[in-house]
Amino acid sequence: MVLAELGGSIARALQLMSNATVIDEKVLNDCLNDITRALLQSDVQFKLVRDMQTNIKNIVNLDDLAAGHNKRRIIQQAVFNELCKILDPGKPSFTPKKGKTSVVMFVGLQGSGKTTTCTKYAYYHQKKGWKPALVCADTFRAGAFDQLKQNATKAKIPFYGSYMESDPVKIAVEGVERFKKENCDLIIVDTSGRHKQEASLFEEMRQVSEATKPDLVIFVMDSSIGQAAFDQAQAFKQSVAVGAVIVTKMDGHAKGGGALSAVAATKSPVIFIGTGEHMDEFEVFDVKPFVSRLLGMGDWSGFMDKIHEVVPMDQQPELLQKLSEGNFTLRIMYEQFQNILKMGPISQVFSMLPGFSAELMPKGREKESQAKIKRYMTMMDSMTNEELDSSNPKLMNESRMMRIARGAGRQIREVMEMLEEYKRLAKIWSKMKGLKIPKKGDMSAL
Ligand code: GDP
Repeated sequence: MVLAELGGSIARALQLMSNATVIDEKVLNDCLNDITRALLQSDVQFKLVRDMQTNIKNIVNLDDLAAGHNKRRIIQQAVFNELCKILDPGKPSFTPKKGKTSVVMFVGLQGSGKTTTCTKYAYYHQKKGWKPALVCADTFRAGAFDQLKQNATKAKIPFYGSYMESDPVKIAVEGVERFKKENCDLIIVDTSGRHKQEASLFEEMRQVSEATKPDLVIFVMDSSIGQAAFDQAQAFKQSVAVGAVIVTKMDGHAKGGGALSAVAATKSPVIFIGTGEHMDEFEVFDVKPFVSRLLGMGDWSGFMDKIHEVVPMDQQPELLQKLSEGNFTLRIMYEQFQNILKMGPISQVFSMLPGFSAELMPKGREKESQAKIKRYMTMMDSMTNEELDSSNPKLMNESRMMRIARGAGRQIREVMEMLEEYKRLAKIWSKMKGLKIPKKGDMSAL
C-alpha cells in the first residue's frame, strides 16, 4: 500500500468511527481492525501493530470515560500518538549549520537512489541559502560520475570527480579540500554502492570516511524492501557511523510504512524521504507533521516551510496575520492559488493543508487539479474588488454569479462550484482564527 493509500485508509477508519452515532466497544474494535489491516498491508511489523492496538485499548477505556468526554477526539489522539511512537526513533540527527563547513557522506547499496538523493539533498539546501557542493567518489559504477555531473549541472551545484582516477579515497579527499577552499558550507560525498552488502563495500566506506572525516554519514535506502530495512540499516550502522537515514521511492512502494517503522526500530533518525525521481520530490521527515499529514490532518510546519519558500518575504507577515484573523476572503484564496501554482508539485503542497488529504489531490492528477485552479482564477478575475474582499457569503447573489459566469465565459454552475470550494476552504481556515502559527510538530492547531 503506498503511503497516500495507507493514510487514506487510516483516515477513513477514523472517519467511519466518527460518523457512528454512539461510540461503543464494537465501533472502536472495527476502527482499530481497519487500521491494523492497513498497517499490515503496508508491511509494518506485526508486533508493532499488535502493541499499538493494545495500547490504544488501554488508553481508551470506554467504560471509564464519563459522559461529556469527547471520545472521538480521545481515540484520534491515541491513534496519532501511537503512530508517532512507531515512527519515532527518539534520537535526533546531527544537523549541519549554515556558514560552517560540514562534510556529509552518503552510503547505500547500488540502485537505492543514492546519487539522485545526493543531488536532491544539495538542491534542498541550496534553495534555503546554503552553498553546497558534490563530490563523486563512486569509482565502482561506470557512469556514476556522468550521472552526478548531469544532475549537479542541472541544479547549478559545483561538483568534483574524475573519469581517470580509480581510487575513491583520493578523489574524496581532493574534492573535499577543493570545496573547503571555496568556502562551501555543505560538502556532499557520494560513495560507491554494490549490488549487495559485502566486505569490499564496507571496507571502502570505512576508508573514505576515515580520510574525509564526515560530520554526518547518511545511509540511503530503498523503501521497497519493507521490514528488511531493519537488517540493512543495522548492517550499515555496524560498519560506519551512520547518523541519519533517507528512505527513497516512497512514492511507488507498498512497503513504505514497513520500511519507515523498521528503520525507526534501529533508532536511526530518518531525516528525509524521496517521493519521486525529480529533484524537488524530496521531503523533510519529521514524525509528528508526517503522521498528521498522513491522516489528512494537515502539516502546518511543512506548509509554513512552503509559505516561507514561495510567498515573497514582504507578503508573509500580512498573509499570516490575515489567516490568524480567520478572515479568509476570495482574494486570499486567489493569492493562495497563485502561490500554489508557483510552488510546483501541487499534490505535495495540498496534502500539507488540513482538509486536503493526499488522497483528494492524488499524485498523477496534478494536471487536472492545476486546470481547475486556473479555471477558478479566471472566474475570480471577473469579480469586483468588493466581491473579492468581502467575507460575507450572502453578497454573492444570483445576478452577481451570472455576471461573473458571463465575464469568464463559464457556466453559472461552475461559479457556484468555485464558491462552494471557497466556503469549504474558509471553514477550514476559520479554525486558524486567534491561533498562533503553530511551531514545528505542534498538534494544538489540529
Ligand atoms: P544509486 O545507484 O543508489 O546511486 O541510485 P540512483 O540515484 O542511480 O537511482 C536509481 C533509480 O532510482 C533511478 O532511476 C532514480 O531515478 C530512481 N529514484 C531515486 N530516488 C527515487 C524516488 O524517491 N522515487 C522514485 N520513484 N525513483 C527514485
